[in-house]
Amino acid sequence: MGTAHPTRDKTMQVTEELIRNVVERVLAQVGTGGSHNGSHSTCRSHRGRFGVFDNVDDAVAAATEAFEQLSERTIEDRKRIIDHIRRISIEQCVELGTMEMNETRIGRLEHKIEKLKTLGERTPGVEFLRSEVFSGDHGLAVIEHAPFGVIGCITPVTHSLPTITGNAVSMIAGGNTLVVNPHPSGKLVAAEGVRRFNEAIYRDLGIDNLICVIAEPTIDSADAIFNHRGVKLICVTGGPAVARAAMKASKRAIVAGPGNPPVVVDETADLDRAARSIIQGGAYDNNLLCIAEKEVFVVSEVFDAMMAAMDRAGAVRLNAREVDALTKVAITSVGEGSHKHDVPHKDFLGQDAAVLARGIGKNIPAKTEMIFGETDEHNPFVPVEQMMPFLPFVRVRDVDEAIAKAKHYEHGFRHTAIIHSNNVRNMTKMGRALDTTLFVKNGPCMSSLGLGGEGYLSFSIATPTGEGVTTPLTFTRERRCSLIDDLCILGAGARG
Ligand code: NAD
Repeated sequence: MGTAHPTRDKTMQVTEELIRNVVERVLAQVGTGGSHNGSHSTCRSHRGRFGVFDNVDDAVAAATEAFEQLSERTIEDRKRIIDHIRRISIEQCVELGTMEMNETRIGRLEHKIEKLKTLGERTPGVEFLRSEVFSGDHGLAVIEHAPFGVIGCITPVTHSLPTITGNAVSMIAGGNTLVVNPHPSGKLVAAEGVRRFNEAIYRDLGIDNLICVIAEPTIDSADAIFNHRGVKLICVTGGPAVARAAMKASKRAIVAGPGNPPVVVDETADLDRAARSIIQGGAYDNNLLCIAEKEVFVVSEVFDAMMAAMDRAGAVRLNAREVDALTKVAITSVGEGSHKHDVPHKDFLGQDAAVLARGIGKNIPAKTEMIFGETDEHNPFVPVEQMMPFLPFVRVRDVDEAIAKAKHYEHGFRHTAIIHSNNVRNMTKMGRALDTTLFVKNGPCMSSLGLGGEGYLSFSIATPTGEGVTTPLTFTRERRCSLIDDLCILGAGARG
């Protein structure tokens, strides 16, 4: 065999790759040490870790070191860094999306892939940063948007790497670095994506660990991030428990919390368009989006026609007995006493419509995107954020009752609400009553994130804390720079 061996074969080429591998191994060994309580190590570098860490102290120390290096660089360098994240998300979307699907086992593969590609293409970057200027008789004041430093991020299992991708683009555009505690069920793809992003950035710009991830995330490591004095800001994307925990943290938190988006269909709606929209939004990634349609209130005048429109659009209707059977297996209770509440059963959460149907002994085509059925408002599918492609349709007297019930079952999350109507008064009434962060009219939920509608994209929509669809500016501090009496070149000014 003519295989080259490093120590025996004199003809072996000392390739660039070989040198790089050796250097990386040495750097990784040197960089395994850490610091405590957030004071970052000055004698040990974390280069070569490519952002993957065993503990929060080391991750924060590395992200702090990376932040100091990033602060010495230009805005153009930030753009170059983000371009690597975009390129990897787009070019490797099939491989990374498949990895995410295989690990989390929820959602739909084609949407896992599409989410990475779309976030790579559409998340706003440095172009979103803009300064404001006041000029007048007393000179000039410029307001610039400066970074916070290290941002602690908590990400959901529903979009593990996509959330990190979007957060990384927005936060680095604002000049920050990140330490991420991913959901334990999406930790492998999170670490692999982060490793690829950092490696590409390091090779091009020589900065490692701009995005750090905890390899074995736990509630304790999330708490350690919340309380670390090296972490300057928290950004949490997740359900009720983590949203509550972040709101109690001792530092500022941007909280992208849960939703239960209601849909209202009134008598003026284009029913076929409404049906297509409800399926497009509600079935996307098997209903995992926090903005996705979760329950539908239809006025009685058009209720039967709306159900027929859903049939025509390709959804499969369940009869009352089938709805009952699905409710029994797909929704379960957790907690004790006053804490007892319904949640989606993990065997059904994020599964295909055909899997849900099979769970009640019904065979439907594998490509079916959504199943649906008539329920009353007390069916658990109405209040619960089910995250599976079955939608309950509730018959209501008129639009006022529809809006009142939509408001009730949105639970005051102020997240997302949707109406299908051609009556602007009804739209206005619902918009005012629901008071949600996103209010969509006559389209699928994702059109509110610039996907088929106007506006821009982010997968962290800050609801209880009010920042809305996050952008690079969300992750910046305002700084004002004032020059007194000069540089306003209009008129005489205070100097005369
Ligand atoms: P989840 O709440 O179970 O987990 C989210 C993250 O929080 C995970 O990393 C988890 O490990 C962590 N976590 C959970 N409880 C915690 C606690 N007490 N302390 C610290 N960390 C904790 O949610 P999920 O199933 O991963 O994601 C789905 C939920 O996220 C849904 O409720 C959905 O609406 C919401 N979500 C919201 C947005 C948004 O932009 N507003 C985006 C995506 C998902």
